[in-house]
Amino acid sequence: MTVTDDCTQRYPETGISVLIVGAGVAGLMAALECWRNGHDVRIVERSPEEVTTGDSFTIGPSATRAFKHWPKLAEENEKIAFVPHLAFYTLSGHRVTEPNHVEYRKDKGSKKVPGQITRHWRPQLHGMLLRQLYAIGISVEYGCRAVEYFEISHTGRAGIILANSERLEADVVIAADGLRSHSTKVTLGQEIRARPTGQALYRTAFPVEIAMNDPMVRERFPLVGEKEGPIEFWAGEHYHFLVIRTSDTMSWTLSHKDYESATESWSHQSDPEDVLKITSTIPDWPEVADRLIRLTPKDRLLHFRVMWRDPQPTWVSPAGRIVQIGDAAHTYIPASGNGATQGIEDAVSLATCLRMAGGTEQVPWALRIHNRLRFIRVSCLQKLGLINLKSYSEKPKKDNFTPKGLQYLTAEWIWGHEPETYAEENYYKVLDHLQRGTPFQDTNIPRGHVYRDWTIDEMLEIQERGEEIELDGEWE
Ligand SMILES: Cc1cc2nc3c(=O)[nH]c(=O)nc-3n(C[C@H](O)[C@H](O)[C@H](O)COP(=O)(O)OP(=O)(O)OC[C@H]3O[C@@H](n4cnc5c(N)ncnc54)[C@H](O)[C@@H]3O)c2cc1C
Repeated sequence: MTVTDDCTQRYPETGISVLIVGAGVAGLMAALECWRNGHDVRIVERSPEEVTTGDSFTIGPSATRAFKHWPKLAEENEKIAFVPHLAFYTLSGHRVTEPNHVEYRKDKGSKKVPGQITRHWRPQLHGMLLRQLYAIGISVEYGCRAVEYFEISHTGRAGIILANSERLEADVVIAADGLRSHSTKVTLGQEIRARPTGQALYRTAFPVEIAMNDPMVRERFPLVGEKEGPIEFWAGEHYHFLVIRTSDTMSWTLSHKDYESATESWSHQSDPEDVLKITSTIPDWPEVADRLIRLTPKDRLLHFRVMWRDPQPTWVSPAGRIVQIGDAAHTYIPASGNGATQGIEDAVSLATCLRMAGGTEQVPWALRIHNRLRFIRVSCLQKLGLINLKSYSEKPKKDNFTPKGLQYLTAEWIWGHEPETYAEENYYKVLDHLQRGTPFQDTNIPRGHVYRDWTIDEMLEIQERGEEIELDGEWE
């Protein structure tokens, strides 16, 4: 192992060259972890420069634990992660439950002590990963939009073609280019079908000073701790309103029925006046919420259409040289609370599998092993997204109300997972499983769960019949 200036330990070089497409959360983490595991890294991104928009997401311990390999990153993460005090409200802004931290739960007999759920502002987390990447001498190449993926089986190489016709090649191409990745044309032979969930979100985050200019807003949304404010979840049958405030950022989200005006895009801008037209139809909607909406800068307001995609078991190309991670491999609806966490887990698992491969020849097996180690876990969490979405429509009740979905998401099989150790311990077992058909039992999923293929349509039909989606095994 080599120890760098900031005390990160790097494994010996493997000689494997990795080309990462997309510098989002999964791509940046893959760049860091691939470098730490001894691979040679290049990363390209279609945006002309670093993107600083986005609001917040939850990142679980199974992902943040990986930061401990990067002392400076771990230190910075402590500063930017915030512990929300969650409270439920009615749509008229009346509090139903007291603000409370949400604790991760542990299995009976478990020795690990779970902490509290933390959230991150996406721009801050993204900036933190980017700074660490620069610190080890890797720069993101901006303005590089991949329009096609290819692999050449006889040379054991793969690559992309950029919009300017330039051709880039490597031993492995990691498609971390998020929603609608072109890589599915190689891995699946087609694009993945996306269907509207019927829900859209107006969502924003902007500097808190802008919101604090209004005295009514300032008084209504104070800080609770040193840097944390409350997460107010206003729940109603047709709408949800979420307000999050910290010492530096103000954010709100309004979910409503999708009338086809929204797009599934992280760059589509919107007008606060359109939101006010909706809130004017909600009975007893309070003035303070409209004031907050009116203060929102137009260039910070997204109108995001929430889409379903069926789980895709194949993330690896036929010759085993292209692999998808993060949203390119598996999309999550926001209610699943797992998009960023699973993208980071993917990055750690994949970089470890490539190290275990030991050299370029074994790369195809490393990618297939990574895919097999991760797919069932990821699809279980996609299924929980469906259950959560339904449970968030429950009317909040007094006294410690926690929607069923949130209870599932704090289970130990989710937060207790360690993707690096898991890949190290199971690499050869899965190799045997794939090559010789020896049985392999996943241990990063609910205990006792037996995976069967499922589709969104099947799950929605079950819910439409008024039945519960069956969760065999110990999901809680
Ligand atoms: C600007 C932005 C803001 C977001 N804000 C939020 C948020 O507030 N809350 C939330 O829950 N999730 C948000 N997300 C999504 C969230 O980051 C992901 O769901 C999750 O972190 C998994 O990350 P990912 O790296 O797989 O995908 P992403 O974070 O979406 O990253 C994909 C990256 O690939 C790049 N890319 C796409 N196509 C190409 C191409 N053809 N060639 C090269 N590069 C390409 C994109 O520009 C992007 O940087 C946001 C994503 C983006 C891009």
